[in-house]
Amino acid sequence: MSEDHHESETHVLMFPCPAQGHINCMLQLAELLVLSDIHVTVLNTEHIHQRLLRFAEIPSRLAAYPTLHFKTFSDGLPSDDPRRQEDYVGEQIKQVNLMAMPRLREICVEASGKPRFSCIIADGIFGRLTNEVGQELGIPVVYFRTISACSFWAYFCAPRLFESNELPIRGEQDMDRMITSIPGMENLVRCRDLPSFFRANHKSHIPLEPVVFETHQSLRAQALILNTFEDLEGPVLSQIRHHFPRFYALGPLHAHLNSRKATKTMSSETSPPSFESSLWEVDRSCMTWLDAQQPKSVVYVSFGSITKISRDELMEIWHGLVNSKKRFLWVIRPGMLSEKEGQDPPMDLVEGTKERGRMVGWAPQKEVLAHVAIGGFMTHCGWNSTLEGVAAGVPMMCWPYFADQQINSRYVSEVWKIGLEMKDVCDRKLVEEMVNDLMVERRQEFEKSTQAMATLAKTSVREGGSSYSDFDRFVQFLKSAREIDGSLFMK
Ligand code: UDP
Repeated sequence: MSEDHHESETHVLMFPCPAQGHINCMLQLAELLVLSDIHVTVLNTEHIHQRLLRFAEIPSRLAAYPTLHFKTFSDGLPSDDPRRQEDYVGEQIKQVNLMAMPRLREICVEASGKPRFSCIIADGIFGRLTNEVGQELGIPVVYFRTISACSFWAYFCAPRLFESNELPIRGEQDMDRMITSIPGMENLVRCRDLPSFFRANHKSHIPLEPVVFETHQSLRAQALILNTFEDLEGPVLSQIRHHFPRFYALGPLHAHLNSRKATKTMSSETSPPSFESSLWEVDRSCMTWLDAQQPKSVVYVSFGSITKISRDELMEIWHGLVNSKKRFLWVIRPGMLSEKEGQDPPMDLVEGTKERGRMVGWAPQKEVLAHVAIGGFMTHCGWNSTLEGVAAGVPMMCWPYFADQQINSRYVSEVWKIGLEMKDVCDRKLVEEMVNDLMVERRQEFEKSTQAMATLAKTSVREGGSSYSDFDRFVQFLKSAREIDGSLFMK
Protein backbone atom coordinates (compact mmCIF):
# COMPACT_ATOMS: atom_id res chain seq x y z
CA MET A 1 0.00 0.00 0.00
CA SER A 2 1.29 3.47 -0.87
CA GLU A 3 2.69 5.52 1.99
CA ASP A 4 1.73 8.82 0.43
CA HIS A 5 -1.09 10.66 2.02
CA HIS A 6 -4.59 10.62 0.60
CA GLU A 7 -6.97 13.32 1.66
CA SER A 8 -9.44 10.78 3.07
CA GLU A 9 -6.99 8.93 5.29
CA THR A 10 -5.28 9.78 8.54
CA HIS A 11 -1.60 8.91 8.50
CA VAL A 12 0.59 9.48 11.55
CA LEU A 13 4.34 9.28 12.01
CA MET A 14 5.46 7.66 15.26
CA PHE A 15 8.91 8.47 16.58
CA PRO A 16 9.97 6.30 19.53
CA CYS A 17 13.02 6.62 21.74
CA PRO A 18 15.47 3.81 20.86
CA ALA A 19 15.10 1.73 24.03
CA GLN A 20 13.08 -1.41 24.79
CA GLY A 21 10.56 0.05 27.23
CA HIS A 22 9.80 3.05 25.01
CA ILE A 23 9.47 0.93 21.87
CA ASN A 24 7.16 -1.63 23.48
CA CYS A 25 4.46 0.84 24.39
CA MET A 26 4.90 2.94 21.24
CA LEU A 27 4.30 -0.16 19.10
CA GLN A 28 1.30 -1.13 21.22
CA LEU A 29 -0.14 2.30 20.50
CA ALA A 30 0.75 1.94 16.80
CA GLU A 31 -1.17 -1.32 16.64
CA LEU A 32 -4.18 0.20 18.40
CA LEU A 33 -4.20 3.05 15.88
CA VAL A 34 -3.93 0.71 12.91
CA LEU A 35 -6.89 -1.26 14.27
CA SER A 36 -8.79 2.06 14.26
CA ASP A 37 -8.13 2.60 10.55
CA ILE A 38 -5.27 5.03 11.01
CA HIS A 39 -2.21 4.58 8.82
CA VAL A 40 1.03 4.53 10.79
CA THR A 41 4.68 4.90 9.87
CA VAL A 42 7.20 4.18 12.64
CA LEU A 43 10.62 5.82 12.42
CA ASN A 44 13.32 3.85 14.27
CA THR A 45 17.08 3.96 14.28
CA GLU A 46 18.58 1.45 11.87
CA HIS A 47 20.15 -0.37 14.84
CA ILE A 48 16.81 -0.86 16.60
CA HIS A 49 15.12 -1.86 13.36
CA GLN A 50 17.72 -4.55 12.72
CA ARG A 51 17.16 -5.96 16.21
CA LEU A 52 13.39 -5.95 15.73
CA LEU A 53 13.82 -7.76 12.41
CA ARG A 54 16.03 -10.32 14.12
CA PHE A 55 14.05 -10.99 17.30
CA ALA A 56 10.52 -9.69 16.87
CA GLU A 57 9.27 -11.51 13.76
CA ILE A 58 8.41 -8.14 12.24
CA PRO A 59 8.53 -9.18 8.54
CA SER A 60 6.10 -12.10 8.87
CA ARG A 61 3.70 -10.11 11.08
CA LEU A 62 3.80 -7.01 8.89
CA ALA A 63 2.02 -8.84 6.10
CA ALA A 64 -1.10 -8.70 8.26
CA TYR A 65 -0.78 -4.91 8.67
CA PRO A 66 -0.73 -3.29 5.22
CA THR A 67 -1.21 0.16 6.74
CA LEU A 68 1.79 -0.05 9.10
CA HIS A 69 5.20 0.89 7.76
CA PHE A 70 8.67 1.16 9.21
CA LYS A 71 11.33 3.68 8.20
CA THR A 72 14.82 4.07 9.59
CA PHE A 73 17.61 6.57 10.07
CA SER A 74 21.20 6.12 11.19
CA ASP A 75 22.02 7.05 14.79
CA GLY A 76 25.48 7.95 13.49
CA LEU A 77 27.29 5.20 15.41
CA PRO A 78 29.09 2.37 13.61
CA SER A 79 26.99 -0.81 13.38
CA ASP A 80 29.33 -2.69 15.74
CA ASP A 81 29.16 0.01 18.47
CA PRO A 82 27.78 -1.67 21.64
CA ARG A 83 25.30 1.22 22.27
CA ARG A 84 25.44 0.61 25.98
CA GLN A 85 21.86 0.44 27.20
CA GLU A 86 22.63 1.89 30.63
CA ASP A 87 23.74 5.12 28.96
CA TYR A 88 20.82 5.24 26.57
CA VAL A 89 19.34 8.44 27.90
CA GLY A 90 22.61 10.26 27.70
CA GLU A 91 24.30 8.74 24.68
CA GLN A 92 21.47 7.47 22.50
CA ILE A 93 19.24 10.49 22.97
CA LYS A 94 22.12 12.79 22.20
CA GLN A 95 22.78 10.83 18.99
CA VAL A 96 19.13 10.89 17.92
CA ASN A 97 18.91 14.62 18.58
CA LEU A 98 22.00 15.07 16.41
CA MET A 99 21.08 12.73 13.58
CA ALA A 100 17.30 12.53 13.15
CA MET A 101 16.42 16.01 11.89
CA PRO A 102 17.33 15.62 8.18
CA ARG A 103 15.52 12.27 7.94
CA LEU A 104 12.46 13.64 9.70
CA ARG A 105 12.33 16.56 7.27
CA GLU A 106 12.79 14.22 4.31
CA ILE A 107 10.11 11.68 5.14
CA CYS A 108 7.57 14.18 6.45
CA VAL A 109 7.17 15.80 3.04
CA GLU A 110 5.81 14.22 -0.14
CA ALA A 111 7.33 14.83 -3.59
CA SER A 112 4.54 17.36 -4.19
CA GLY A 113 5.79 19.35 -1.19
CA LYS A 114 2.70 18.56 0.92
CA PRO A 115 3.10 17.11 4.43
CA ARG A 116 2.92 13.30 4.26
CA PHE A 117 1.55 12.94 7.79
CA SER A 118 -1.44 14.46 9.51
CA CYS A 119 0.31 14.21 12.87
CA ILE A 120 3.62 13.23 14.49
CA ILE A 121 3.36 11.17 17.69
CA ALA A 122 6.79 11.48 19.26
CA ASP A 123 8.34 10.20 22.44
CA GLY A 124 8.17 13.30 24.64
CA ILE A 125 11.88 12.85 25.35
CA PHE A 126 12.36 14.39 21.90
CA GLY A 127 10.19 17.40 22.69
CA ARG A 128 12.38 20.14 21.28
CA LEU A 129 13.41 18.22 18.17
CA THR A 130 9.96 17.15 17.02
CA ASN A 131 8.35 20.43 17.95
CA GLU A 132 10.82 22.18 15.64
CA VAL A 133 10.02 19.81 12.76
CA GLY A 134 6.27 20.11 13.35
CA GLN A 135 6.40 23.90 13.41
CA GLU A 136 8.52 24.06 10.29
CA LEU A 137 6.40 21.68 8.23
CA GLY A 138 2.99 22.57 9.63
CA ILE A 139 2.32 19.14 11.11
CA PRO A 140 0.65 18.85 14.55
CA VAL A 141 2.78 17.10 17.17
CA VAL A 142 1.53 14.89 20.00
CA TYR A 143 3.87 13.84 22.79
CA PHE A 144 3.72 10.38 24.26
CA ARG A 145 5.62 10.27 27.57
CA THR A 146 6.20 6.60 28.32
CA ILE A 147 6.76 7.15 32.05
CA SER A 148 4.25 7.18 34.92
CA ALA A 149 2.06 10.23 35.48
CA CYS A 150 3.54 10.65 38.98
CA SER A 151 7.08 10.92 37.60
CA PHE A 152 6.05 13.17 34.70
CA TRP A 153 4.36 15.42 37.24
CA ALA A 154 7.37 15.42 39.56
CA TYR A 155 9.60 16.56 36.66
CA PHE A 156 7.02 19.16 35.69
CA CYS A 157 6.92 20.54 39.24
CA ALA A 158 10.72 20.61 39.71
CA PRO A 159 11.04 24.40 39.18
CA ARG A 160 8.44 25.09 41.86
CA LEU A 161 10.28 22.74 44.27
CA PHE A 162 13.45 24.77 43.82
CA GLU A 163 11.51 28.02 44.27
CA SER A 164 10.00 26.79 47.53
CA ASN A 165 13.41 25.57 48.76
CA GLU A 166 12.28 21.96 48.91
CA LEU A 167 15.09 21.23 46.49
CA PRO A 168 17.97 20.58 46.04
CA ILE A 169 18.36 17.44 48.14
CA ARG A 170 21.02 18.23 50.74
CA GLY A 171 22.99 14.99 50.87
CA GLU A 172 22.36 11.50 52.25
CA GLN A 173 21.04 12.74 55.61
CA ASP A 174 18.26 14.60 53.77
CA MET A 175 16.86 11.63 51.86
CA ASP A 176 13.96 10.87 54.20
CA ARG A 177 12.62 14.44 54.25
CA MET A 178 9.02 14.59 53.03
CA ILE A 179 8.27 16.64 49.90
CA THR A 180 5.17 18.71 50.58
CA SER A 181 4.55 21.00 47.64
CA ILE A 182 3.80 18.79 44.65
CA PRO A 183 0.06 19.26 44.14
CA GLY A 184 -1.76 15.95 44.16
CA MET A 185 1.01 14.13 46.00
CA GLU A 186 1.43 16.18 49.16
CA ASN A 187 3.27 14.24 51.87
CA LEU A 188 3.43 11.08 49.78
CA VAL A 189 7.01 11.12 48.60
CA ARG A 190 10.32 11.67 50.34
CA CYS A 191 13.43 13.04 48.65
CA ARG A 192 14.47 9.39 48.29
CA ASP A 193 11.35 8.68 46.22
CA LEU A 194 11.79 11.44 43.67
CA PRO A 195 13.00 10.21 40.23
CA SER A 196 16.73 9.49 40.45
CA PHE A 197 17.73 12.50 38.31
CA PHE A 198 16.81 14.72 41.28
CA ARG A 199 19.82 13.29 43.16
CA ALA A 200 23.23 14.81 42.82
CA ASN A 201 24.87 11.37 42.66
CA HIS A 202 22.86 8.85 40.77
CA LYS A 203 23.71 5.87 38.61
CA SER A 204 23.22 7.52 35.22
CA HIS A 205 24.90 10.62 33.90
CA ILE A 206 21.76 12.56 33.18
CA PRO A 207 21.43 15.96 34.79
CA LEU A 208 17.95 17.02 35.91
CA GLU A 209 17.81 20.23 33.83
CA PRO A 210 17.40 18.69 30.33
CA VAL A 211 14.82 16.23 31.67
CA VAL A 212 12.77 19.09 33.14
CA PHE A 213 13.31 21.13 29.97
CA GLU A 214 11.98 18.37 27.69
CA THR A 215 9.04 17.81 30.07
CA HIS A 216 8.08 21.48 29.78
CA GLN A 217 8.30 21.19 25.98
CA SER A 218 5.15 19.09 26.24
CA LEU A 219 3.26 22.35 26.79
CA ARG A 220 4.00 23.20 23.16
CA ALA A 221 2.50 19.99 21.75
CA GLN A 222 -1.07 19.79 20.52
CA ALA A 223 -1.79 16.91 22.87
CA LEU A 224 -0.17 14.75 25.54
CA ILE A 225 -0.56 11.00 26.00
CA LEU A 226 0.39 8.92 29.03
CA ASN A 227 0.31 5.14 29.43
CA THR A 228 -1.70 5.08 32.64
CA PHE A 229 -5.33 5.00 33.78
CA GLU A 230 -7.65 7.12 35.84
CA ASP A 231 -8.13 4.74 38.77
CA LEU A 232 -4.37 4.31 39.15
CA GLU A 233 -3.15 7.91 39.08
CA GLY A 234 -6.36 10.00 39.22
CA PRO A 235 -5.23 12.75 41.65
CA VAL A 236 -2.09 13.41 39.62
CA LEU A 237 -3.98 13.24 36.32
CA SER A 238 -6.36 15.95 37.56
CA GLN A 239 -3.36 18.19 38.16
CA ILE A 240 -1.85 17.41 34.76
CA ARG A 241 -5.15 18.26 33.03
CA HIS A 242 -4.98 21.83 34.41
CA HIS A 243 -1.91 22.38 32.23
CA PHE A 244 -2.67 20.08 29.30
CA PRO A 245 -6.25 20.58 28.11
CA ARG A 246 -5.86 17.96 25.37
CA PHE A 247 -4.69 15.03 27.45
CA TYR A 248 -5.29 11.30 27.01
CA ALA A 249 -4.60 8.50 29.53
CA LEU A 250 -4.70 5.34 27.41
CA GLY A 251 -3.18 2.63 29.56
CA PRO A 252 -2.32 0.01 30.36
CA LEU A 253 -1.66 -0.08 26.62
CA HIS A 254 -0.82 -3.79 26.43
CA ALA A 255 -4.13 -4.66 28.13
CA HIS A 256 -5.93 -2.06 26.03
CA LEU A 257 -4.67 -3.71 22.85
CA ASN A 258 -5.84 -7.14 24.05
CA SER A 259 -9.24 -5.71 24.94
CA ARG A 260 -9.80 -4.06 21.53
CA LYS A 261 -8.60 -7.16 19.72
CA ALA A 262 -10.95 -9.36 21.74
CA THR A 263 -13.87 -7.07 20.82
CA LYS A 264 -12.95 -7.32 17.14
CA THR A 265 -12.78 -11.10 17.35
CA MET A 266 -16.19 -11.25 19.04
CA SER A 267 -17.66 -9.14 16.28
CA SER A 268 -16.21 -11.80 13.93
CA GLU A 269 -13.74 -9.38 12.37
CA THR A 270 -10.38 -11.10 12.44
CA SER A 271 -7.55 -9.23 14.10
CA PRO A 272 -3.97 -10.11 13.19
CA PRO A 273 -1.63 -11.55 15.84
CA SER A 274 0.27 -8.87 17.77
CA PHE A 275 3.91 -8.60 16.93
CA GLU A 276 6.34 -8.77 19.81
CA SER A 277 8.91 -6.03 20.00
CA SER A 278 11.78 -7.75 21.79
CA LEU A 279 15.30 -6.51 21.22
CA TRP A 280 16.75 -9.75 22.62
CA GLU A 281 16.10 -13.38 21.73
CA VAL A 282 13.17 -14.61 23.80
CA ASP A 283 13.84 -17.85 25.66
CA ARG A 284 10.48 -19.60 25.74
CA SER A 285 11.78 -22.66 27.57
CA CYS A 286 10.86 -20.93 30.83
CA MET A 287 7.16 -21.31 29.95
CA THR A 288 7.51 -25.10 29.91
CA TRP A 289 9.31 -24.87 33.24
CA LEU A 290 6.51 -22.69 34.65
CA ASP A 291 3.89 -25.20 33.43
CA ALA A 292 5.45 -27.75 35.78
CA GLN A 293 5.21 -25.51 38.89
CA GLN A 294 2.43 -25.21 41.47
CA PRO A 295 0.02 -22.22 41.25
CA LYS A 296 1.45 -19.00 42.77
CA SER A 297 4.65 -20.75 43.81
CA VAL A 298 7.23 -18.83 41.71
CA VAL A 299 8.82 -15.39 42.14
CA TYR A 300 9.59 -13.84 38.75
CA VAL A 301 12.69 -11.62 38.91
CA SER A 302 13.41 -9.13 36.13
CA PHE A 303 15.10 -5.76 36.09
CA GLY A 304 14.20 -4.69 32.54
CA SER A 305 16.42 -3.69 29.67
CA ILE A 306 18.75 -1.06 31.15
CA THR A 307 19.54 -1.91 34.80
CA LYS A 308 23.12 -2.90 35.52
CA ILE A 309 23.95 -4.84 38.66
CA SER A 310 27.28 -5.28 40.42
CA ARG A 311 28.61 -8.66 41.47
CA ASP A 312 27.88 -7.80 45.13
CA GLU A 313 24.26 -6.96 44.31
CA LEU A 314 23.94 -10.14 42.25
CA MET A 315 25.19 -12.18 45.22
CA GLU A 316 22.85 -10.47 47.71
CA ILE A 317 19.78 -11.02 45.54
CA TRP A 318 20.80 -14.56 44.64
CA HIS A 319 21.43 -15.54 48.29
CA GLY A 320 18.14 -13.93 49.31
CA LEU A 321 16.19 -15.86 46.67
CA VAL A 322 17.85 -19.19 47.46
CA ASN A 323 17.54 -18.70 51.23
CA SER A 324 13.82 -17.90 50.88
CA LYS A 325 13.37 -21.51 49.71
CA LYS A 326 10.83 -20.30 47.17
CA ARG A 327 10.97 -21.12 43.48
CA PHE A 328 12.22 -18.36 41.20
CA LEU A 329 12.56 -17.49 37.52
CA TRP A 330 15.24 -14.84 36.99
CA VAL A 331 16.06 -12.88 33.83
CA ILE A 332 19.78 -12.20 33.61
CA ARG A 333 20.00 -10.14 30.44
CA PRO A 334 23.20 -10.40 28.36
CA GLY A 335 25.45 -7.55 29.57
CA MET A 336 23.41 -6.93 32.72
CA LEU A 337 26.33 -7.50 35.10
CA SER A 338 28.46 -4.39 35.46
CA GLU A 339 31.61 -6.42 36.11
CA LYS A 340 33.00 -9.43 34.37
CA GLU A 341 32.20 -12.65 36.24
CA GLY A 342 34.85 -13.26 38.87
CA GLN A 343 35.08 -16.46 40.84
CA ASP A 344 32.47 -19.22 40.49
CA PRO A 345 29.32 -18.76 42.60
CA PRO A 346 29.21 -20.66 45.92
CA MET A 347 27.94 -24.24 45.76
CA ASP A 348 24.85 -23.55 47.89
CA LEU A 349 23.66 -21.05 45.28
CA VAL A 350 24.33 -23.43 42.42
CA GLU A 351 22.51 -26.28 44.21
CA GLY A 352 19.60 -24.07 45.37
CA THR A 353 19.13 -22.78 41.82
CA LYS A 354 19.25 -26.28 40.35
CA GLU A 355 16.54 -27.37 42.80
CA ARG A 356 14.19 -24.41 42.74
CA GLY A 357 15.32 -21.83 40.18
CA ARG A 358 15.57 -21.09 36.52
CA MET A 359 17.59 -18.36 34.80
CA VAL A 360 17.04 -17.07 31.26
CA GLY A 361 18.57 -14.28 29.15
CA TRP A 362 15.21 -12.77 28.13
CA ALA A 363 11.68 -13.97 28.90
CA PRO A 364 8.26 -13.41 27.32
CA GLN A 365 7.48 -11.19 30.32
CA LYS A 366 3.80 -10.44 29.81
CA GLU A 367 3.08 -14.14 29.32
CA VAL A 368 5.20 -15.03 32.35
CA LEU A 369 3.32 -12.58 34.57
CA ALA A 370 -0.01 -13.97 33.40
CA HIS A 371 1.04 -17.57 34.19
CA VAL A 372 -0.78 -19.22 37.13
CA ALA A 373 2.52 -20.35 38.64
CA ILE A 374 3.65 -16.76 39.31
CA GLY A 375 3.04 -15.56 42.88
CA GLY A 376 5.30 -12.51 43.05
CA PHE A 377 7.36 -10.17 40.89
CA MET A 378 10.71 -8.76 41.95
CA THR A 379 11.06 -5.75 39.65
CA HIS A 380 13.09 -2.59 39.06
CA CYS A 381 9.75 -0.79 38.56
CA GLY A 382 10.29 0.35 34.99
CA TRP A 383 6.92 1.77 34.00
CA ASN A 384 6.05 -1.01 31.51
CA SER A 385 6.96 -3.70 34.02
CA THR A 386 4.98 -1.94 36.76
CA LEU A 387 1.87 -1.71 34.55
CA GLU A 388 2.31 -5.32 33.44
CA GLY A 389 2.48 -6.38 37.11
CA VAL A 390 -0.57 -4.25 37.95
CA ALA A 391 -2.65 -5.66 35.08
CA ALA A 392 -1.64 -9.26 35.90
CA GLY A 393 -2.56 -8.75 39.56
CA VAL A 394 0.86 -9.92 40.77
CA PRO A 395 2.26 -8.42 44.01
CA MET A 396 5.60 -6.72 43.50
CA MET A 397 8.79 -6.26 45.46
CA CYS A 398 10.57 -3.29 44.04
CA TRP A 399 14.27 -2.64 43.72
CA PRO A 400 14.39 0.59 41.68
CA TYR A 401 17.46 1.42 39.63
CA PHE A 402 17.02 4.85 38.05
CA ALA A 403 14.80 7.50 36.41
CA ASP A 404 11.08 7.17 37.26
CA GLN A 405 11.60 3.82 39.02
CA GLN A 406 12.15 5.42 42.45
CA ILE A 407 8.77 7.13 42.48
CA ASN A 408 6.95 4.21 40.81
CA SER A 409 8.24 1.98 43.55
CA ARG A 410 6.95 4.38 46.24
CA TYR A 411 3.50 4.35 44.64
CA VAL A 412 3.49 0.52 44.48
CA SER A 413 4.25 0.18 48.18
CA GLU A 414 2.70 3.24 49.85
CA VAL A 415 -0.07 4.51 47.60
CA TRP A 416 -1.50 1.46 45.82
CA LYS A 417 -0.29 -0.94 48.52
CA ILE A 418 0.28 -3.74 46.04
CA GLY A 419 3.82 -4.59 47.06
CA LEU A 420 6.97 -3.81 49.03
CA GLU A 421 10.05 -1.79 48.28
CA MET A 422 13.74 -2.22 48.88
CA LYS A 423 15.22 1.17 48.04
CA ASP A 424 18.88 2.24 48.14
CA VAL A 425 19.87 -1.06 49.77
CA CYS A 426 20.54 -4.52 48.46
CA ASP A 427 20.62 -7.03 51.26
CA ARG A 428 20.14 -10.81 51.21
CA LYS A 429 18.23 -10.88 54.51
CA LEU A 430 15.79 -8.27 53.25
CA VAL A 431 15.29 -10.09 49.94
CA GLU A 432 14.56 -13.31 51.82
CA GLU A 433 12.14 -11.56 54.19
CA MET A 434 10.33 -9.74 51.40
CA VAL A 435 9.93 -12.87 49.30
CA ASN A 436 8.39 -14.58 52.31
CA ASP A 437 6.14 -11.61 53.08
CA LEU A 438 4.94 -11.51 49.50
CA MET A 439 4.46 -15.25 49.03
CA VAL A 440 3.44 -16.36 52.54
CA GLU A 441 3.03 -13.96 55.46
CA ARG A 442 1.12 -11.14 53.73
CA ARG A 443 -0.08 -13.12 50.75
CA GLN A 444 -3.81 -12.71 51.43
CA GLU A 445 -3.53 -8.98 52.00
CA PHE A 446 -1.64 -8.51 48.72
CA GLU A 447 -3.94 -10.87 46.86
CA LYS A 448 -6.84 -8.61 47.75
CA SER A 449 -5.18 -5.34 46.80
CA THR A 450 -3.56 -6.61 43.59
CA GLN A 451 -6.75 -8.29 42.36
CA ALA A 452 -8.73 -5.11 43.04
CA MET A 453 -6.24 -3.01 41.07
CA ALA A 454 -6.07 -5.56 38.22
CA THR A 455 -9.88 -5.40 37.95
CA LEU A 456 -9.75 -1.59 37.74
CA ALA A 457 -7.06 -1.86 35.04
CA LYS A 458 -9.20 -4.26 32.99
CA THR A 459 -12.29 -2.11 33.44
CA SER A 460 -10.45 0.98 32.24
CA VAL A 461 -9.65 -0.62 28.88
CA ARG A 462 -13.09 -2.14 28.26
CA GLU A 463 -15.88 -0.32 26.43
CA GLY A 464 -17.08 2.48 28.72
CA GLY A 465 -13.81 2.49 30.71
CA SER A 466 -11.74 5.66 31.12
CA SER A 467 -8.80 4.64 28.88
CA TYR A 468 -11.13 3.15 26.28
CA SER A 469 -13.08 6.42 26.07
CA ASP A 470 -9.90 8.50 26.02
CA PHE A 471 -8.62 6.43 23.10
CA ASP A 472 -11.84 7.01 21.14
CA ARG A 473 -11.48 10.74 21.81
CA PHE A 474 -7.84 10.58 20.72
CA VAL A 475 -8.72 8.85 17.44
CA GLN A 476 -11.36 11.53 16.81
CA PHE A 477 -8.74 14.17 17.46
CA LEU A 478 -6.30 12.52 15.03
CA LYS A 479 -8.95 12.18 12.35
CA SER A 480 -9.87 15.84 12.64
CA ALA A 481 -6.29 17.09 13.10
CA ARG A 482 -5.77 17.33 9.37
CA GLU A 483 -8.71 19.64 8.87
CA ILE A 484 -7.65 22.00 11.61
CA ASP A 485 -3.91 21.44 11.48
CA GLY A 486 -2.49 24.95 11.12
CA SER A 487 -4.75 26.42 13.76
CA LEU A 488 -3.70 23.83 16.32
CA PHE A 489 -0.28 25.33 16.76
CA MET A 490 0.60 27.33 19.81
CA LYS A 491 3.13 29.73 18.32
N1 UDP B 1 10.81 -7.50 29.11
C1 UDP B 1 10.64 -8.67 28.43
N2 UDP B 1 11.40 -9.74 28.80
C2 UDP B 1 12.31 -9.69 29.80
C3 UDP B 1 12.47 -8.47 30.50
C4 UDP B 1 11.70 -7.39 30.13
O1 UDP B 1 9.82 -8.77 27.51
O2 UDP B 1 12.95 -10.70 30.05
C5 UDP B 1 9.99 -6.34 28.70
C6 UDP B 1 8.97 -5.99 29.76
O3 UDP B 1 7.80 -6.77 29.55
C7 UDP B 1 8.76 -4.50 29.56
C8 UDP B 1 10.09 -4.04 28.96
O4 UDP B 1 10.81 -5.20 28.59
O5 UDP B 1 7.72 -4.29 28.62
C9 UDP B 1 10.94 -3.26 29.95
O6 UDP B 1 10.41 -1.99 30.09
P1 UDP B 1 10.36 -1.24 31.48
O7 UDP B 1 9.70 0.06 31.25
O8 UDP B 1 9.74 -2.11 32.50
O9 UDP B 1 11.86 -1.07 31.92
P2 UDP B 1 13.19 -0.52 31.18
O10 UDP B 1 13.70 -1.65 30.36
O11 UDP B 1 12.78 0.67 30.35
O12 UDP B 1 14.09 -0.18 32.31
